[in-house]
Amino acid sequence: MATTSTLTDRLGRPIRDLRISVTDRCNFRCVYCMPRDMFGPEHAFLPRAELLTFEEIARLARVFSGLGVQKIRLTGGEPLIRKDLEDLIGMLATIPNLDIALTTNGSLLPKMAGPLARAGLTRVTVSLDSLDDARFDAINDVNFPVARVLEGIEAAAAAGLDPIKINMVVKRGMNDVDVVPMAEHFRGTGHTVRFIEYMDVGTTNGWRLDDVVPATEMVDAIAARFPLEPIGSDYRGEVAKRYRYLDGAGEIGFISSVTQPFCGDCTRARISSEGKLFTCLFASEGHDLRELVRSGADDDVLVEAITGVWRNRGDRYSELRSAATSELTKVEMSYIGG
Ligand code: SAM
Ligand code: SF4
Ligand code: SF4
Repeated sequence: MATTSTLTDRLGRPIRDLRISVTDRCNFRCVYCMPRDMFGPEHAFLPRAELLTFEEIARLARVFSGLGVQKIRLTGGEPLIRKDLEDLIGMLATIPNLDIALTTNGSLLPKMAGPLARAGLTRVTVSLDSLDDARFDAINDVNFPVARVLEGIEAAAAAGLDPIKINMVVKRGMNDVDVVPMAEHFRGTGHTVRFIEYMDVGTTNGWRLDDVVPATEMVDAIAARFPLEPIGSDYRGEVAKRYRYLDGAGEIGFISSVTQPFCGDCTRARISSEGKLFTCLFASEGHDLRELVRSGADDDVLVEAITGVWRNRGDRYSELRSAATSELTKVEMSYIGG
């Protein structure tokens, strides 16, 4: 198989990260991601036969690794509701030099953390938007308690998956009051909270620019309680702007994709659960890899197809974002994977 470590897109960006959605289903109904009135009992989720099998995912992962991908993140929907996910992790773990991460709502981690770690998972990111049960319930909309997510974080740490990243999406009026308490709770634990600006992904969450709490505002609020200083990024394509507490209690990050876009360094490709390749979170259409895989194409054909798509990539949605672009048709976050 060709190794094209120099594979870059039209803006000179290499392909380094691959996010794979393993299901479009979820056991939460977060109001900013899968609002219940759009994702109710009538919603047509993908039938099982449409999903890539573990063998198909592992094969694609191997091909992408040959093209320069160094990190794979499994996501969804909620990846841990895909049955036997640890078997997929085990298959991915046989690919050399590949970091295998997972983003989860944490609900199933208490029982899954051990098997996932043993299968070869390298890192986990747990989403948690509030430490207050009433507010967390109003967000997840399935009455899921904060304590169970915290238990999942502890289980992941005990299984050796630490340090853990905690993702908090901040939406004005929804949970902005939780920013400082969240920083306070995880200070000194070794886990890193990443505060995420609410984004206009998909078309169902009714996004408005007024709902976005700019990262600078969050930095100021936290620094007023716990003084901070910025630290440099670890690698090209790192999305979070990192800060450390001056008293040595650890670090936090801010993902400011709305107010300070980072498209210039975006090295991420995404594969939806039905095998479509997307070159931007805000794309409206993907490129069907499943059809190629199921038609019996050999690896060289896959390499050629993926190379063609990446070379042609010119996406920089966040840099072009405006009221008009937020009206465009885009795929849902729960489908493409965050
Ligand atoms: N279900 C898993 C979870 O919640 O961690 C994985 C999938 S979820 C789509 C991945 C990440 O995207 C989560 O951290 C979630 O909070 C974030 N997310 C979803 N909708 C978002 C939005 N509109 N703006 C910013 N982040 C969002
Ligand atoms: Fe589910 Fe994650 Fe979306 Fe919440 S953010 S609805 S947990 S996929
Ligand atoms: Fe990457 Fe698209 Fe996000 Fe820009 S908007 S950082 S190109 S995913």
